[in-house]
Amino acid sequence: MEPLLEVKGLQKYFPIRSGALKKTDGYVRAVDGIDLTVYPGETVGIVGESGCGKSTTGRTILRLLEPTAGEVWFDGKDLARLSKEEMRRTRKDIQMVFQDPFASLNPRQTIKQILLESLEVHGIGTKAERLKTIEDIIEVVGLQKEHLNRHPHDFSGGQRQRIGIARALVLKPKLIIADEPVSALDVSIQSQILNLLKDLKKDFNLTLLFISHDLSVVKHICDRVAVMYLGRVVEIADKQTLFKNPSHPYTQALLSAVPQVNPNAKRERIILKGDLPSPANPPSGCTFHPRCIYATEECKTAVPHLRDIGDGQLVSCHLLKGR
Ligand code: SF4
Repeated sequence: MEPLLEVKGLQKYFPIRSGALKKTDGYVRAVDGIDLTVYPGETVGIVGESGCGKSTTGRTILRLLEPTAGEVWFDGKDLARLSKEEMRRTRKDIQMVFQDPFASLNPRQTIKQILLESLEVHGIGTKAERLKTIEDIIEVVGLQKEHLNRHPHDFSGGQRQRIGIARALVLKPKLIIADEPVSALDVSIQSQILNLLKDLKKDFNLTLLFISHDLSVVKHICDRVAVMYLGRVVEIADKQTLFKNPSHPYTQALLSAVPQVNPNAKRERIILKGDLPSPANPPSGCTFHPRCIYATEECKTAVPHLRDIGDGQLVSCHLLKGR
C-alpha cells in the first residue's frame, strides 16, 4: 500500500538573532531530520516531552511553518515544493485540530459563520449545500443545529473541541493532524473526545497524525507510535510492540512513568538524569547520551540512526543492532 504521508529528513530550524543588527548567532533545531510514514486509515502518534519538537513537526508538515529542509510527500505531491496557491488547495485535504480550540475559534463569529467560512474559502457547494453540510456535521460531532447560532464562549471546553473537530471535518479531509487535542480537557471529557475521533475516523475514512505528550492517550487511540526526543524520532513501532517491548532507553523511561492498570504488572520507574537539553545546543552524538544510563564513549560522538530491530520496530540506539 502506498503511504498517504511520507516525511523524509524534515528539518525546522529557528534562527537565534542578537544585537542591534539582529545577526544570526545560531539555530534552535526544533525538528532535526525526521522520517515518518503514515498509511491510509492509520492513526500514528507522535509522543515526547514538552519541547521535543512534536508540535513543530505537525505545523511544518502542514507548512504553517516553512521547512528548513526535507520532503513532505502527501498523496503523491511534495508539499515542501508546492506554490502558495497549490498549497492552499491541498490544505483542504489536510486539516488540523488544535490543543486550545478557544484560541483557534474567532470569538466574534457564530459557529455557523466559522464552519461556513472553510467551505466558502474553498468554493465548495452552493449556499444551500453548504448549510446542509454544516447542519449534518454539527450533529455528527455530538452537538445540535441550534448550537450553530451561538458563539465559542457559549460552550464548555469539550464542546469547543467538538466544534474544532467539526471545522476540520467539514472539508472532508484525507488527513487530520491533531495537536494535543485533549490535553486541555478534564479526564472524563478526554475519553469522550478520543472516542469521538475514533468513531469519526471509521465513518469518514480518515487518517490521523496524533500529537501528544501523554502516552496513555496515545495508547488509547493510535495504531503506531513515534517517540521523539530533541527534534528526532528515536523509536517507532506498532502500539502493541512499543508498549510491550519499549527498546530505546528514552522510551523505556517514558513508559516507566505511566501508571499501570494491572497492579501485578509492576514496572520499575526510571528517573531520567537532568532536564531536556536545549535544542539550540544539542549534545553531540546521541543527543540522549547525557541522560542515558547505558551511554558509552561511542554514544558521545556517533549519531545513531533508526534501524529495524525486527517486526518493523525502528530504534536509534548503538546498543541495539538491527536486522
Ligand atoms: Fe543511550 Fe547510547 Fe543508545 Fe543513545 S545510543 S540511547 S546514549 S545507549
